[in-house]
Amino acid sequence: MTAPYNFSAGPAMLPRAVLERAQKELRSWRGSGTSVMEISHRDPAFMQMAAKAEQDLRDLMAIPENYQVLFMHGGGRGQFSAVPQNIAGPHATVDYLNSGIWSDFAIREAQKYVAQVNVVGGAIDTKRGRALASPESWQLSADAAYFHYCPNETMDGVALHDIPEAVTAPVVADMSSNILSEPLAVERFGVIYAGAQKNIGPSGFAIAIVRDDLLGRAQSNTSTIMDYTAQAKERSMYNTPNTWAWYLSGLVFEWLKEQGGLAAMGQVNQRKADLLYNLIDSSDFYRNQVHPDFRSKMNVPFVLADAQRDGDFLKAAEQQGLLGLKGHRFVGGMRASIYNAMPLEGVVALVDFMREFEQKHS
Ligand SMILES: *Cc1c(COP(=O)(O)O)cnc(C)c1O
Repeated sequence: MTAPYNFSAGPAMLPRAVLERAQKELRSWRGSGTSVMEISHRDPAFMQMAAKAEQDLRDLMAIPENYQVLFMHGGGRGQFSAVPQNIAGPHATVDYLNSGIWSDFAIREAQKYVAQVNVVGGAIDTKRGRALASPESWQLSADAAYFHYCPNETMDGVALHDIPEAVTAPVVADMSSNILSEPLAVERFGVIYAGAQKNIGPSGFAIAIVRDDLLGRAQSNTSTIMDYTAQAKERSMYNTPNTWAWYLSGLVFEWLKEQGGLAAMGQVNQRKADLLYNLIDSSDFYRNQVHPDFRSKMNVPFVLADAQRDGDFLKAAEQQGLLGLKGHRFVGGMRASIYNAMPLEGVVALVDFMREFEQKHS
């Protein structure tokens, strides 16, 4: 058995160094005699840690000054309602790209808050696999309050690698499963948000990066904890934030800096994805059903040519310490999620296992 490697899609693995540090600091944070969970969020030491976490995230992503960084409640889905409530009026039109299952959930939530949710286009099936309709074919509204898309569809394993260019409305992106995975031109977005449990920290927590000119537009019945403007004013401490998640996310940001930042992460992530897709493409035993131009670098779904063997595959993988490979219950098959915390060695171990399993069973 190799060291256990956890390929869970989310909540996903955290860097081992982060867990070890949290363990070391658990009973007495900074010599305080209490854990970080047991002190006031207004305590100067906590406030200092919180501010440093924000600054580290700003450094990592090169977030311009005219953006607020908000630490929010309610995970990724909380933002599905926060976005329309905060930046579109109830009578507005908003544009959504429907690239997969998460986009679809976001669309259905937005329909509760705005008059017109216009789906501009979405996933299509081609001879080379699942793809996205080309941007020239998108039916964009002339007056959209924003354009929303999900650059990395976690369940479908479908990604849109280029930031849409033709869109003139503010671009809002659900980056729950690809934030911090490579360098990003933040200045091209109006809002970037992400649930934390894939590439940031614990679940139930979310980060929203909001351009200043989009503040002050919230619908009047927006709950205050979901109000970007109120949270910006209170530095994300309108009510008690999830202090533990904030702390752990801060440790992850420090760890990312030590790894060399997002350029370094992007390189490793590309190598990890290439290793897996190359193995899958070179075999008739495994198959990925996404067009090569639209493949996710974070979530690699695959099926066995003989689905009868799925159970054996998952059991044997687990015995090897390769965990969390079962596909989403909506999709079936297998899925390897290879976020920042998954080391290259984990993917090498998976690829070796897959090769051996194929040899034994074909
Ligand atoms: C996981 C995920 C979500 C939902 O996150 P929750 O924190 O469970 O609400 C939303 N969007 C994407 C792209 C995701 O991967």
